[in-house]
Formats: sequence, C-alpha cells, structure tokens
Amino acid sequence: MTRPTPFLGLAQLCRRVETTTKRNEKIALISTFLKSIGPEEVPLATLFLAGKAFPESDPRVLEISYATISDAGKNLGQSRLTEHPLTIRDVYDTLEKIAQTSGSKSRDRRLSLLQTILTQASQVEAEYLTRMMLGEMRIGVVEGVLLDAIGEASGVPRDLVRRAHMLHGDIGDVASLAMSRGASALELINLRLFVPIKPMLAEMADDPQQVLGEHKDGTAFEYKFDGARIQIHRKDEKVQIFSRRLTDVTDSIPEIVDFAKTQVKASEYLIEGEVVAIGASGKPIPFQDLMRRFRRVHEIESVAEKIPLKLYLFDALQVEGKTLIDQPYTDRWKILSKIVPEQRLAPRIITSDVEKVESFMESALREGHEGLMAKSLTSNYSIGARGKKWFKIKPADKLDVVIVAADWGSGRRVGWLSNYHLAVRDEETGEFLVIGKTFKGLTDLEFETITKRLQAIKTRDGRYTVYVKPSIVAEVAYNEIQKSPRYKSGFALRFARISRFRDDKGPDDAGTLQRLQQLYDKQFENKDRFNME
Ligand code: AMP
Repeated sequence: MTRPTPFLGLAQLCRRVETTTKRNEKIALISTFLKSIGPEEVPLATLFLAGKAFPESDPRVLEISYATISDAGKNLGQSRLTEHPLTIRDVYDTLEKIAQTSGSKSRDRRLSLLQTILTQASQVEAEYLTRMMLGEMRIGVVEGVLLDAIGEASGVPRDLVRRAHMLHGDIGDVASLAMSRGASALELINLRLFVPIKPMLAEMADDPQQVLGEHKDGTAFEYKFDGARIQIHRKDEKVQIFSRRLTDVTDSIPEIVDFAKTQVKASEYLIEGEVVAIGASGKPIPFQDLMRRFRRVHEIESVAEKIPLKLYLFDALQVEGKTLIDQPYTDRWKILSKIVPEQRLAPRIITSDVEKVESFMESALREGHEGLMAKSLTSNYSIGARGKKWFKIKPADKLDVVIVAADWGSGRRVGWLSNYHLAVRDEETGEFLVIGKTFKGLTDLEFETITKRLQAIKTRDGRYTVYVKPSIVAEVAYNEIQKSPRYKSGFALRFARISRFRDDKGPDDAGTLQRLQQLYDKQFENKDRFNME
C-alpha cells in the first residue's frame, strides 16, 4: 500500500493551479498530482479539486457556515504542529463525520470536529479547506479542465472520460476508474437507475421560423409547462424521483410515486416529465405555488389535497435495461408512448407549417401553459447540455423600467457597468422601487455606451455598485412577474433582459408599481390564483 498523501500536497497543488491562468499548465499540474497519489486517494483529491465534499448524487451535505468556521478559528489551540501531518484521508474522514452529525448538539459537535482538523492544518491547508467547505473554491478548475487532467493522468482518451462523467455523474469515481482500470472500464459505464442525471436543456428561440431553419430533419412542438421537471427512476417496487437540480423529491409527491408503480407498463425505467400544480378550475397555477409542494416534507397529505398535481411526460432515457439516450427523439417518444397512458404524454404536433405552430402555441397559452418546446426529431438526448436540438418558444412580455443603479461587471464584462437595477415608480410616493436586475440583452458597444452614460449621472458609489439618478429608461422583456420579499416593491421579474433603450421616454413615462400590480393580476387570467392560507 502506498503511503498516505499529506493534505498539504493537495493544498499546495490548489495554490499552484490557482496562480496559473494557462489551461494546459493546470491540466499538467493536476495530472502529475493524480499520478503521484494512492488509488484510494484519487476520488477524494478529484472531488476536492472540484470544490466538493461529496459527489453530486450523494445526498449528504456539510452545513458549515461562515460563522461556524470563524468560531472554530477563534478557539484554536496554541500548537498547530503535530507529529502527524494531516492526510487527504483524515480530511475526508472528518468531512464525513461532520455530515453525519445531527440532533440538538450538532453545531457543537461540528465545531469541535472542525477545530480538531484546523489545529492540525497549516495556513495554506486551512485556507483551501475552508474555501471548499464554504463552496468557494474558485481556483480556476472548471469541470473540463479536471476531466482533461483525468484523461492525461490515466491515458484514457478525453472524449471517453467526458462521456463517462456525463453518464456517471460522480467525477471522483470516474477518475478512480480511469486511473485504476483504464478505458475498458469507462466504456462499460452506462446510465444507472437511481443515480440522477443532469437534464437536457433548451435554448431560447424568438419564433417558430428560427426553429424550423435550424432543424433540417423536422421538429416536434410540445407544450411547455410551467411546472417542475422531474425524472422518475423505477426498478420493480423501488421508485425514486429527482428534481431538475437532482434533489430527491420522492417523498413530496406520493401520488406520482403511486402513478409510477401502477400506471407505467414497464418494471424498469427512467422517464422524464414535468409536474404542474392545478388550481380549482383545472388550470395550472404559478410555479411559485408549486414549489411549496417540494419544500414541504410534513403534512404531505393535506398539502396534496390543496395542490393537486398533473404529470406530463416527454422523454424516456432507459426502459427495461436498454439505454435510449443515443437514439433519436422519435424513437424515444415511440417507446415512451408505449409504456405510459396517452393522456399523460405532453400534447405535441409534428409540423413545419408556421401557422399550425402558432395556433398550437395559442392553445398552449389559452390552457395556461408557458409556450412551446421545439425538439429536433433526429436529436439524441444530450445529458446536461443546452443546445439547439431543443428550443423553447415563449411569448415575452415587455415593460419599460428605469435604471437606478448598476454593478461593475466581472469576467468578460469587467470594466463595464453591466448588471442593471431595474425600477418602477410608485405613483403614490414618487419613489423608484427595484423589481429586478439584469445584464442580459446588450451588445458590447451598448455596454460601453451605457457605462459612460451611467457614470455621468452617478449619485453615489457603493462597493460594487454605482447609484444613478433615475433617468435612463429601458424596455425589458420578461417571462413572469413574481411576488418577492427580496425587494421593497414586493415584485421581481423572472428572466428579465433588456430589449432596447427607450431614449424617447423619461422616467415619468416608464412603468409604475400600480401597472405592475395590474400585470401581475393579469397573469392569473389563464391561471388560477392559489391561496394556501
Ligand atoms: P427553461 O427553464 O426556461 O430553461 O426551460 C426548460 C425547462 O422547461 C425544462 O427544464 C423543463 O422543466 C421545462 N419544460 C416544460 N415543458 C417541457 C417539455 N415539453 N419538454 C422539456 N422541458 C419542458
């Protein structure tokens, strides 16, 4: 057995990787490190570099707050020098113990575990350990870099490593398999039931013409539901349901579990769909209300009575042991439609006639749904990817708002004021109240011009924010108005993006809080308002 690797080596690697901006250098550094450590340490080090304590599909969480770390730091013992240097294994053993703590004294127990480990840590070790625990690694190791480093260290082709990770989800495990068993082991990796997979995503399309131009071999248009995406995994009597963010939501939706056990004509499958909350008149109600179903874990039965759900299915990724993700949409749909009741399938049409698409869209909206999804008939299921194989088409609403502040940009937008605080005027008080922020919709040239214009009307500087005299009016497109306690206005725009500047308008011509309230109420014409209380 190889000697345990000191955690110091991993912390120093993080420092080195963070200080270089060169991708290839990062890959080489990580690859050399992975080759130098023991096989049982490979998954741990890989997870650490990815900034994770546990694999994504692992439900355990650390629950370490900044306050706990700072309390632990305050009471550290004098001597940081111990005879035994901290090893990678020690660190992960402690993380596991921290995640296992529960009950009334759990904070004290976590604190003491943290103190024990921090007492043994040098400064650089403590720094990276703390950053990882707080979810703030940010050492410039994006997933692609890590996967390429695993490829380089193991000699497995990069594409194979990427595919294995896409299917398997646990980067630590993939690293370990690649290093110890090579390409042949990765080739055997397949979708696994009860391990959530990252859902395929869609790009936004402006209109059906754009979609038809992209999809040369035909398009299926399905209703786009404003609900919550779920993936249902079943094998015999076991059913597990995961959300779009891969959390296990099985216990919050017992009626869907029941459906999965009794209505689907297959004993082993992974299928996908959307659950929508239904109001008294049988129409969908807003997404926010549906989310209450998922947050509740107690009183499930009474909540279930108050918020009935409807399930619409639209994809099959595995059925009776056969993985379908490499098959075209048409075949996956055919298989899905054989195993689920017809009324549970997402309504859809296959056409290249724009007028038909538009009238189908109108039906979707009339029935209280969000718009359409447009799926290429020949496309495979690309796990976790957003691309042109799937488009979403939603009619955007528009509102004129006033910019009252802007944040300095980072990354590509550094040097520009790029995140704009959007406000409407309260007719009663004259005050401008923020209803959202956005950096979307602008060209580089517009960013530059608007940065200059904003600086010229600055009223004060914040740490990252410049506050300005409310005078620039922008038209924003958005998908929904939500109630939000975050802003004094009480509202927030969902998916706001600037569609154009309205220099022909002054701040008094822009939207008002009262108008926003009306628009909010209007949203419910097609949807039932839902009141929990
Ligand atoms: P968006 O959240 O706006 O990026 O749109 C993508 C989301 O739309 C998916 O993650 C699903 O939750 C949801 N959705 C609603 N209807 C469908 C459908 N028919 N096919 C795929 N996704 C859908």
